[in-house]
Amino acid sequence: MNNIYDVIIIGSGPAGYTAALYAARANLKVIIIAGSTPGGQLMLTGQVENFPGFPDGILGPELMERMREQAMKFGAEIIYDEAIDVDFSSHPYKVKTLGEEYLGYSVIIATGAAPRWLGLDSEKRLIGRGVSSCATCDAPLFKNAENIVIVGGGDSAMEYALFTANIAKKVTVIHRRDKLRASKIMQERAFSNPKIKFVWNSIVTDIIGQDRVEGVKVKNLQSNEEFIIQCNAVFVAIGHQPSTSIFKNKLEMDDDGHIITREFVKTSVPGVFAAGDVHDKKYRQAITAAGLGCMAALEAIRYLEEIKMKIK
Ligand code: NAP
Repeated sequence: MNNIYDVIIIGSGPAGYTAALYAARANLKVIIIAGSTPGGQLMLTGQVENFPGFPDGILGPELMERMREQAMKFGAEIIYDEAIDVDFSSHPYKVKTLGEEYLGYSVIIATGAAPRWLGLDSEKRLIGRGVSSCATCDAPLFKNAENIVIVGGGDSAMEYALFTANIAKKVTVIHRRDKLRASKIMQERAFSNPKIKFVWNSIVTDIIGQDRVEGVKVKNLQSNEEFIIQCNAVFVAIGHQPSTSIFKNKLEMDDDGHIITREFVKTSVPGVFAAGDVHDKKYRQAITAAGLGCMAALEAIRYLEEIKMKIK
């Protein structure tokens, strides 16, 4: 049967590609199911300055293309399809995609995480019309805009604010607390940029505009005062949700939907491993995801040796 593999890797971010590289170099039959966003979150990122080996930085999509190429070089297969169901109740395990069903003696889950939204009806209506979760992708559409709002206080929000400050006349960061979560270096860069203003202790309660963004309604959480800030676009940078819906009731997960692992990458099912943002809610870096992908592949290799099952 052609559709049977030593290792099925679900997801194609840094964790998935690194797992594929290690498993393929171990001469295993490997397939990557790339998912709905091949390359993962880094495809939506601009310059990556903190991935070792690139002292001048590298564009996120270029980094992912290089990782893909390196995994392919050692014989991993890739399919541009989405996993929609898994069956871990019998071995080999089954992974169903929109178009096929694959069998795997081991499975590495590297499905990552998807952007979190504010959950407002107006937000949903205006996505793609000024509301976006990716400033590096969409901010260039708002060249010379009077004001762009960024929601959030983490590194993504600061990255978006700094990027957008090169494009718009003014950037307003709205954060629910009076302290940023972002790293010190990103905070310092944002604070020293005269175009970036901060609105503290405040949340966005509505986005104004019918078919394009005209402003946001903001509530100060300390005074309960509500006010409107006019703007041309809103970039939501409030973190991510692990992409684990197809593993519900099939693997142990925490309340937020992160897969629970022991010994770094082992899930509750033997031979099924997790790597990257799908289980790591603490570090969530490209480099840590890649490291976890490596660990998952090494554990998969060990597992296949233990159960004495290998195709190649
Ligand atoms: P994050 O660190 O989880 O920050 C999310 C931010 O959104 C927090 O400030 C949080 O507020 C706020 N938030 C969450 N839910 C909210 C809600 N419902 N309404 C309003 N605000 C809400 O996420 P991230 O910034 O995407 O970063 C994720 C990881 O990637 C981090 O480890 C980060 O270091 C890394 N990263 C690194 C870089 C870089 O190095 N250049 C760039 C981007 C991301 P609280 O602070 O109050 O919780």
